[in-house]
Amino acid sequence: MANQQLKIIVGITLVAYISACNTPTSKPKQNNQDTVVNLIVDTNHQVHLSQSLSFSADSAFAMIEKQLSFGPRVPNSKAHLACGDFLIERLKQFTPDVIVQPATVMAYTGESLKIRNIMARFNKEKTNRIVFFAHWDTRPFADRDPAHPKKPVLGADDGASGVAILLELARILALNPPEIGVDLVLFDGEDYGDAGGKPETYCLGSQYWAKNIPVPGYYAKYGILLDMVGARNARFCKEGWSMKFAPTIVDKVWTTAHTLGFGHYFIMKKIDPITDDHYFVNTLAKIPTIDIINHDPDIHPAGFGSHWHTLNDNIDIIDKNTLLAVGQTLVHIIYSESANM
Ligand SMILES: [Zn+2]
Repeated sequence: MANQQLKIIVGITLVAYISACNTPTSKPKQNNQDTVVNLIVDTNHQVHLSQSLSFSADSAFAMIEKQLSFGPRVPNSKAHLACGDFLIERLKQFTPDVIVQPATVMAYTGESLKIRNIMARFNKEKTNRIVFFAHWDTRPFADRDPAHPKKPVLGADDGASGVAILLELARILALNPPEIGVDLVLFDGEDYGDAGGKPETYCLGSQYWAKNIPVPGYYAKYGILLDMVGARNARFCKEGWSMKFAPTIVDKVWTTAHTLGFGHYFIMKKIDPITDDHYFVNTLAKIPTIDIINHDPDIHPAGFGSHWHTLNDNIDIIDKNTLLAVGQTLVHIIYSESANM
């Protein structure tokens, strides 16, 4: 734990124990929801967070299990359709502003894929916004698995983990309206790509979204993509495209994670670029966007964990501590942004 550092946190003053903190420096500020929000610098070096602002790793874990219960979410499959319907209904529990963007895209195999990007908006009237992304489809073939290269991947980590964290953020956002606008976007068709071919054969949903954002005049100050954020002992390094397009956001997120004591997940090391959904959000939609992705070439020969694109990408490799590290870091990012960011 990084207890030697000052913790800067945001808390709701209605929570009783905030007032019990030892000598906090408070700067009350009124926001549009008539909720008084305090920026607390606790000189006792303690992290305090209201109960409703605590990320629940149990809840996120349950949302991974729920997605896996449909089976592999391969575009054009029944499981894919059913899981998409579930995700839309789940998000509608937390905000009335859920946009479903259907599209038909062409896979490198020549197959025509029916996909849906799903966008949930919080405080949609706010012009100062940030946006989070994850992909909800799973890979149609376990081509890194020598024993089962043609079987579909269950995608507990590669897909479901990022989605589950965003679903948990949706629950928190509904309970605690932030000062800023927040959008959660679930991309489809990310993982149908050609492993030996062009990177553009991946990320079909995000490419479509970035070229056809379903909100006129859409603006977000920055974006954060989650991909493979649930595995045990995950290592999130500073990825190359993120460092090129949004280095200050990388710095903000990694510093926040270290301040919260999650430095063993958020490694202060730069790695080569990875073409993932954020590449297309950066280059096509021009939203500076980073990727939090489990990838460390110094640990794994392929960079990604050994479960990547194999049948081992199942619930057994998921660790609630990893979900908590990522989720709690993002909660702090959201609630430390003020209306005039
Ligand atoms: Zn993948």
